[in-house]
Amino acid sequence: MSAKGKFITLEGIDGSGKSTIAKLLASNPDFSDFVFTREPTETWIGEAVNRAIHSDTDSIAELLLFTADHAEHISKLLKPSLDEGKNVISDRYSGSRYAYQGMTLADKFEDPMQWIQDIHSGWSLDPDLTILFDIDPAIAVERCGNRGEKTKFEKISFLEGVRENYLRLANENPAKFSVINANRPVDEIESDVVELILSII
Ligand code: ADP
Repeated sequence: MSAKGKFITLEGIDGSGKSTIAKLLASNPDFSDFVFTREPTETWIGEAVNRAIHSDTDSIAELLLFTADHAEHISKLLKPSLDEGKNVISDRYSGSRYAYQGMTLADKFEDPMQWIQDIHSGWSLDPDLTILFDIDPAIAVERCGNRGEKTKFEKISFLEGVRENYLRLANENPAKFSVINANRPVDEIESDVVELILSII
């Protein structure tokens, strides 16, 4: 049996540049045998998540839809790919849930991030490396300005809380997180990300 593949996730607030870098990696010959994926997924459950994001859905219902999509993603794509020895890169993953829903559930639980992590425990798959694209929310929102319709998640005050949650996650698990300064030109960020990934595979 081949060795398990490595699992790398890209996290950060909206507009931090994750998708831009994911696209560049997907066209880089060094990563031609990698599986590229994202959350929410493009399955019907992922579509349901997108409907929740774009509507006034109860925050617990929304979290559970995200979590259902996550479970389906793991069992149908991530586990089989990693078991076959393929390396996988996911644009957003459970870190997004902890950081974003850690904000949307702040009025329901004393430590919402811990509560969300607890419901993932025992079945979710931990990444080998999470690359956190860290950026000032004001710059990120400005970048998204020309992206058309804004979701409820793209407000500066909300994103400031999300960023704090992400930095707390990184502080709690420095061995598995690499925080990069995403307020730089794309080519600089890309070369840092490529170096980080090549260093663990
Ligand atoms: P995310 O996937 O994190 O939400 P995107 O990759 O979609 O972010 O980037 C959001 C916007 O910012 C896009 O218009 C993109 O072209 C632009 N952008 C991405 N990275 C940079 C960068 N390093 N510098 C300036 N603009 C960027």
